[in-house]
Amino acid sequence: MIVINLGPEQRIDPADDDLGRDRIGYSSTMSPLALYDASHGAWHLGERAHKERFALMVFEGGGVLAVKIARIEPVSTATGAKASRSVIHGEILAAGHPVYDAHVGKPSPIPPQRNPIGYYDAAAEQSSCLCGCGETIPAGKDFAQGHDQTAVRDRVSQVGTVRDFIAWFDRARGAWPDINVIYEPVTLDGAPTGAPARMRHRLGCDHFWSDQSGRILNTPRAATPREMDALRPCKDCMYTSAKIARGR
Ligand SMILES: [Zn+2]
Ligand SMILES: [Zn+2]
Repeated sequence: MIVINLGPEQRIDPADDDLGRDRIGYSSTMSPLALYDASHGAWHLGERAHKERFALMVFEGGGVLAVKIARIEPVSTATGAKASRSVIHGEILAAGHPVYDAHVGKPSPIPPQRNPIGYYDAAAEQSSCLCGCGETIPAGKDFAQGHDQTAVRDRVSQVGTVRDFIAWFDRARGAWPDINVIYEPVTLDGAPTGAPARMRHRLGCDHFWSDQSGRILNTPRAATPREMDALRPCKDCMYTSAKIARGR
């Protein structure tokens, strides 16, 4: 987390300010948005700033504004004279967000220092890798780099080979249980061909007619348990299904 020490509100000439503002600093009368405008730039930020996810504005030793950083950009000036300064863009956090709750209206997490820009490793920004290794990772991530693969491999080993694992998984969960619709093979004029279905689909899959050549004539029906076991799922439907599962 970037910790920025603000001075008291100060009127300035917009013509002299890189961001065209008429005031900078902090005043208790400022709304969060006014405070954001007055304090999100323009700062000399080191390399480390670009790795940080949150910024905390501090005034007289207390947190006054927390921002979830979206991006940090160099300030553009007409002359280019102050191009080394940056502006922080992001979302103003409110009560209920762990970073806000931990730091706004609370004492600054770092002691007073000469440089207005400081850094702090906030507990709310970190979590533990879900593989169980104990490594600390940024909040919002599940695993340290590569540890998701390790976690999956560990579980495959508990069952046996990859083949054993897939068989076990499909027995426990069913293979693609939401790909459970059969489009009965029909001829071009819509008459059932009498041939067995070759694949199962999701309801609403728009590739079902490709088993036949052309018009959509076949009405869907639920796959039987035998068909769920024996028929392979349509590739497009697997893709759709996986995408939906990931979005949950
Ligand atoms: Zn791990
Ligand atoms: Zn399909």
